[in-house]
Amino acid sequence: MGSLPEQFVFRSRLPDIAIPDHLPLHDYVFERLADRRDRACLIDGATGETLSFGDVDALSRRVAAGLSSIGVCHGSTVMLLLPNSVEFAVAFLASSRLGAVTTTANPLHTPPEIAKQVAASGATVVVTEPAFVAKVSGLAGVTVVATGGGAERCASFAGLAAADGSALPEVAIDVANDAVALPYSSGTTGLPKGVMLSHRGLVTSVAQLVDGENPNLHLREDDVVLCVLPMFHVYSLHSILLCGMRAGAAIVVMKRFDTVKMLQLVERHGVTIAPLVPPIVVEMAKSDALDRHDLSSIRMVISGAAPMGKELQDIVHAKLPNAVLGQGYGMTEAGPVLSMCMAFAKEPTPVKSGACGTVVRNAELKIVDPDTGLSLPRNQPGEICIRGKQIMKGTHTAQIHSQFFEFTFIRKKTEQILTGSKLTRRRFLARCVCVRAGYLNNPEATEKTIDKDGWLHTGDIGFVDDDDEIFIVDRLKELIKYKGFQVAPAELEAMLIAHAAVADAAVVPMKDDSCGEIPVAFVVARDGSGITDDEIKQYVAKQVVFYKRLHKIFFVDAIPKAPSGKILRKDLRAKLAAGIPAC
Ligand code: AMP
Repeated sequence: MGSLPEQFVFRSRLPDIAIPDHLPLHDYVFERLADRRDRACLIDGATGETLSFGDVDALSRRVAAGLSSIGVCHGSTVMLLLPNSVEFAVAFLASSRLGAVTTTANPLHTPPEIAKQVAASGATVVVTEPAFVAKVSGLAGVTVVATGGGAERCASFAGLAAADGSALPEVAIDVANDAVALPYSSGTTGLPKGVMLSHRGLVTSVAQLVDGENPNLHLREDDVVLCVLPMFHVYSLHSILLCGMRAGAAIVVMKRFDTVKMLQLVERHGVTIAPLVPPIVVEMAKSDALDRHDLSSIRMVISGAAPMGKELQDIVHAKLPNAVLGQGYGMTEAGPVLSMCMAFAKEPTPVKSGACGTVVRNAELKIVDPDTGLSLPRNQPGEICIRGKQIMKGTHTAQIHSQFFEFTFIRKKTEQILTGSKLTRRRFLARCVCVRAGYLNNPEATEKTIDKDGWLHTGDIGFVDDDDEIFIVDRLKELIKYKGFQVAPAELEAMLIAHAAVADAAVVPMKDDSCGEIPVAFVVARDGSGITDDEIKQYVAKQVVFYKRLHKIFFVDAIPKAPSGKILRKDLRAKLAAGIPAC
């Protein structure tokens, strides 16, 4: 028998760094507070009001005390249903201080979408704006906190912020196992799931980008970072908010995207770093206002969340000649960043056209042949897999941390004897694993995503070239990305099939110049139903946030499926690409 083929594993050319991953996230972010207490930390783009690092630290302590007074404690879940705001950043840090988990949601989601996430995440407190209070006010067991001027029947954020921050409860955070953030993602397949990112995971991921010499993300203390991307998405939460704060940079918070206002803010505050997504770059490039503003302060534009083609890169180079263009590649479950810019120099160096940087430090990356499972050498495309402390934890890793389980088991066992309930050690361990690793309460999906050796399978197809740069060329997974927002086909298919006039349906991405991809549906209508494409579009639009709306409906006789019943999405995508949307 021949020996197993050697694995081709790619690492950063830079040595690993020491990461203070014993610290809870908030302590890590504020580790250098003493040196920066008076420096600008958060700048409200609308009002110009500036909070220093000292202000943000103190405010987050007061809000933590306020949250504690309404019942938030170690292990609680708080939902932030907020647009970009200073309150978002403060509430996130406050929740972290209490050992609570923050789940983030787009405030434009429909009430049923929000209710689903509240129930699935177990959130007991929702922090939102008065404009969105009605979306959550009827939810049982949920305390609503409203920012701004407050709202009826809600706790007010200002009231929480008036609490005594010196009286915080003692919390023993288990940095390796306690989740601090719970963003939702559909991953490689199925419905959106809660992704448990631990304190250690996020600290590691931020450190990989901004700590040590020649970090992947070249942020400096004198940088001014634009925050126009929504903080409820992990790209902005991690790479702008947390990385910006850790690096000591000032963050200009913009509530929602508007090209002209964005350009004005860049000029007014001398923005040096502009993290964007390709659709915003397209809008910016098309805007007449671009030439009327002095954008020479921008030294780096970072694009991520979706592919950026060569044409767009050329536009950025032409319009912003002083700026280096860096691409990043992230995935919520990867903690989130896999690769970013070029990490071999003191200053950021441009990545090659179409590349999305080099793998972060303290991590391993491999390219796997999806058919054989074997790792591939350079320049050969396959599924991108990553391993490191930054990724969401696999169930296998969780089982290793069994001391906690053993201790709790003994406690529970005592309770069980007292109450007479049946809880075997196996069932209890299984429940702990569910709760503490990977996707919340979904060990099956976790096991499919992170294998027994700890590799996270991204569902993205790509390769590593001779210079260690990573190129993404295709997607194995179902996910659709509309302007960088996730659309899970399974969610829309379930909705379509629930319609009395629909016999079967499949939702796939269609390429689109301005949005990247748009969701379109292949639908088998029930005989004689006479349903129209507009009726189907309206039916879905009423139930979902704008980016999940269906743009086209193709009526077909049957959905192509494998003998196992799995939809042959590749066939449907190929038909769209060939311009023949009929099966
Ligand atoms: P999310 O979990 O919402 O961040 O989405 C992750 C997915 O977005 C990845 O698995 C990729 O499919 C896609 N993605 C993220 N960054 C890039 C990039 N720079 N180029 C191409 N696709 C990307």
